[in-house]
Amino acid sequence: MVDRSESDSRTLLRRLRDTLATPGDGQDRLDRITHLIAHSMRTQVCSIYLFRDPETLELCATEGLNPEAVHKTRMRLGEGLVGRVARTGQPANTANAPAEPGFRYMPETGEEIYSSFLGVPIQRVGEKLGVLVVQSREARLFSDDEVYGLEVVAMVLAEMTELGAFTGDQGGIGAAHRFPVMFRGSTGQEGAAEGRVWLHEPRVVVTNPVGDDPDAEKARLDEAVSTLQAQIDDMLIGSASMDKEQRQVLEAYKMLAHSRGWVRRMSEDIDLGLSAEAAVEKEQSTARARLEQSTDAYLRERLHDLDDLSNRLLRLLTGQGKDTGAELPENPVLVARNIGPAELLDYGRKLKGVVLEEGSVGSHAAIVARALAIPLVIHAARITNEALNGDPILVDGDQGIVHLRPEETVAAAFRDKIAMQAEAQKRYADLRNQPAVDRAGNRVSLMMNAGLMADLPSLKGSGADGVGLFRTELQFLIRSRVPRRGELAALYKRVIDAAQGAKVQFRTLDIGSDKVLPYMKPQEEPNPAMGWRAIRLGLDKPGVLRMQLQALIRASEGRPLSVMFPFVATPDEFNAAKATLLREIDREATLGRPVPSDLRVGAMLETPSLAFAPDSFFAGCDFISIGGNDLKQFFFAADRENERVRRRYDTLDVSFLGFIEQIIARCAASDTALSFCGEDAGRPIEALTFAALGIRKLSMRPASIGPVKHLLRRADLTELKAAIDAARAGGVQTVRPAVTAYLAGLQG
Ligand code: PEP
Ligand code: MG
Repeated sequence: MVDRSESDSRTLLRRLRDTLATPGDGQDRLDRITHLIAHSMRTQVCSIYLFRDPETLELCATEGLNPEAVHKTRMRLGEGLVGRVARTGQPANTANAPAEPGFRYMPETGEEIYSSFLGVPIQRVGEKLGVLVVQSREARLFSDDEVYGLEVVAMVLAEMTELGAFTGDQGGIGAAHRFPVMFRGSTGQEGAAEGRVWLHEPRVVVTNPVGDDPDAEKARLDEAVSTLQAQIDDMLIGSASMDKEQRQVLEAYKMLAHSRGWVRRMSEDIDLGLSAEAAVEKEQSTARARLEQSTDAYLRERLHDLDDLSNRLLRLLTGQGKDTGAELPENPVLVARNIGPAELLDYGRKLKGVVLEEGSVGSHAAIVARALAIPLVIHAARITNEALNGDPILVDGDQGIVHLRPEETVAAAFRDKIAMQAEAQKRYADLRNQPAVDRAGNRVSLMMNAGLMADLPSLKGSGADGVGLFRTELQFLIRSRVPRRGELAALYKRVIDAAQGAKVQFRTLDIGSDKVLPYMKPQEEPNPAMGWRAIRLGLDKPGVLRMQLQALIRASEGRPLSVMFPFVATPDEFNAAKATLLREIDREATLGRPVPSDLRVGAMLETPSLAFAPDSFFAGCDFISIGGNDLKQFFFAADRENERVRRRYDTLDVSFLGFIEQIIARCAASDTALSFCGEDAGRPIEALTFAALGIRKLSMRPASIGPVKHLLRRADLTELKAAIDAARAGGVQTVRPAVTAYLAGLQG
């Protein structure tokens, strides 16, 4: 026998669905729906409040309250009982609404005569759309079944809102994904872009929230759940090579997928009239609203698992996958929770911008975005919930800000900014063939940083003198397995060929720390930036280092070769790495293969200790390149990945500059070539300061060469050095104001 409340609920949901099919505008539908719900729930009032903007709810339809109040009564998020439901995402059920804390009296609605109140959120996977309320005169608490039933109805309303059922004449109201929204994230790569959203993993669209035949819907759900469970079991079988922690994560995932409670609740939703996919979404958003309130990190982590499982289940049920057949829009801006470096490279330069919810400055995606010079904003929380494919979007990589569906005034201001940047780029392009000299004729060699084949066209375009830092780890990061020696040799050869005689300084593998290879067992390290990384790993596991050195020797085909070792902390490490290289060259020679005509072996100075190494180290090193990103983080003890501290200390702080000067003096004393290749080398103010102090080779991202050269050609490094010295003599902590004042006073 079918439970009466179940059959009532199913009838109501079917009627709601029918309102979608009948002609009429959005308001007609809302009016009919409030009438149907009040009738079915046997309450005097049913009202629908929808978001007018992300902070304001508006009464959009009512049965029972004063119709004059429709589209007039508004409340802020968190205000009154309705605002509370919207803010918390949890139902509010009371027999005596006026006595509730925070109750807001709205005389225009005439609601004072209704005592009991039940409000449930209209939400879809953590996305707040509005609030559905029923009220009655009789002072009674609504039963659990009634609360549950109203939540099911709200789910159908959420799907209908999503499908645009209520947008009609009412324009913005109740129209999910219609408001302009601004996201404040962090800079991953500078630059500005305007384009259209391309979701890396598009949302699943539920077109049939109501199910006609509960048994058939439950059978569909059971089948999808079984497939999902089998997929996870397969993942576990394939996890033999994973470490304990990864397996534990998968086990937790499996437990959730096999959870009886989860499947039972979805079946109950179906009994009340939802389709299988709407039931999955309902449980996902209810659990999300609950877990989001939790401060427990473990529980919040489970939220990711639940989202992931629910999305998989939805894809199984709807047949919608990553490949939905949608076409990349013009000027695509990729929006994703996160993305791997290989996937990002697949899109390549087609993308105008990238916006991620997660990621970090040193993440692989950020490294690739930088290599491709695509503006990137990271930490744009919840943007994948808000954005739809094709939405207009502005990416401000300089400020770390994203405007989704921007107002025209914002878009216009933004276009001005892009135009100004384009104008500046054109000016810089005109400088390409001009020498990088200051007014007094001091020459500074401007090199570029690279790591991908895709970078190399910039060598000509930017006017760089060569590649001062070739980050070889990118080739390892974008593959799913260790690249073979032959592959690497072919790639390095193409790099040397493309440089057409200009120098390329290859840095051997710098992995560990933030750069974790997908096929390498991650090391549990309390502080990976100071852990087993770069040359430390290369010396302890020499197989990969030797293979890479062989590939470099072969790629040189008897031409000159420059190799530098990353993260050297002591001369011993440098000597051991250099000895390995020399041994490999001997081996090649014995085999009768060509060896480099000129070999230059250098070290990256990224740890303060190396600056204090004995003279013999500097004398035995062909060149030193300061890796300022790492050096600065260790000098100031401020993690380069930590947003809280990474901008806390100024590169132009007199202590840091004094330290750099010591390195310059030591290199000068032993006649060792010196360059600087951290991010600061590409910042015009910092770059000129280093040049004034005596570093005459700077390696930077290609896009920075124009701006640095432009400023250098207008400055006089001797005058700038005098300004820096005068400021230091005055006892400042940072010379930035003095340098900026000098540069601002330049003509032209
Ligand atoms: C540096 O540390 O400055 C550097 C150039 O190396 P990476 O940024 O790759 O660590
Ligand atoms: Mg480094």
